[in-house]
Amino acid sequence: MKSHTAYLQLKTRERYQIVNLTGAVEQELAKSGIREGLCLVNSMHITSSVFINDNESGLHSDFLKWVEKLAPYDLHGYSHNLTGEDNADAHLKRTIMGREVVVAITGGRLDFGPWEQIFYGEFDGQRSKRVLVKIIGE
Ligand code: ZN
Repeated sequence: MKSHTAYLQLKTRERYQIVNLTGAVEQELAKSGIREGLCLVNSMHITSSVFINDNESGLHSDFLKWVEKLAPYDLHGYSHNLTGEDNADAHLKRTIMGREVVVAITGGRLDFGPWEQIFYGEFDGQRSKRVLVKIIGE
């Protein structure tokens, strides 16, 4: 079995931002030379997510509005922020949107459904973050 590990570096311009990772993950798959296997992609931070959905900007805006409704930014409303942090909402948003995705590799390609792409969801950005890509197979 072969394996390939990569760390994608991200630093979003905005505090809340969705970034398409599909091309970067496909590049790592090409480097790996793996034809059949599994590809794990996960955020290494507890205030950002990795998820699969449609590459449609209206939907991305809907996701950001939806998580803001469920876990609004509130400097004084969360116990976590009493520690001097300001990102309790980001921890909750990350949990809603998920930590990782696993995609099957078939014939050297990410075996997506018709509209699936991989996204990074940042909820406490404007600083350096990492995403792990781990590909195993043969
Ligand atoms: Zn925190």
